[in-house]
Amino acid sequence: MDELVYWTSRSMGKGNVKAWVYRGECPKCGKGIMGKPVEKGKVKVRAKYYECPECGYKVDKQEYEDSLTANIVYTCPECGNKGETQIPFRRKKFQGVDALVFQCEKCKAKVPVTKKMKEI
Ligand SMILES: [Zn+2]
Ligand SMILES: [Zn+2]
Repeated sequence: MDELVYWTSRSMGKGNVKAWVYRGECPKCGKGIMGKPVEKGKVKVRAKYYECPECGYKVDKQEYEDSLTANIVYTCPECGNKGETQIPFRRKKFQGVDALVFQCEKCKAKVPVTKKMKEI
């Protein structure tokens, strides 16, 4: 799970959704994979930024996560269609809750993946 920023799996009525987000390459040097900063061999999971282990480039946590892509595999809770899609890893308000929202390719229902984020 080390290379993932986010991973979730949940069932919703008749459907279910798996969503995951890979850590991205450093936008500056392209060699390192951006991650939480490491200090004296320990990962600072609560840090508000990501750091490149190769060149030390730092990016604000929110800004970095907004640039990533969420991969989604789903069975639509509305119509039972199985599909997969990719959406920007950006949360929107859905019925007052922060959620990743994607659309079923078949019935066009909007399916929210609500935030229940745990630090990995
Ligand atoms: Zn770098
Ligand atoms: Zn559907």
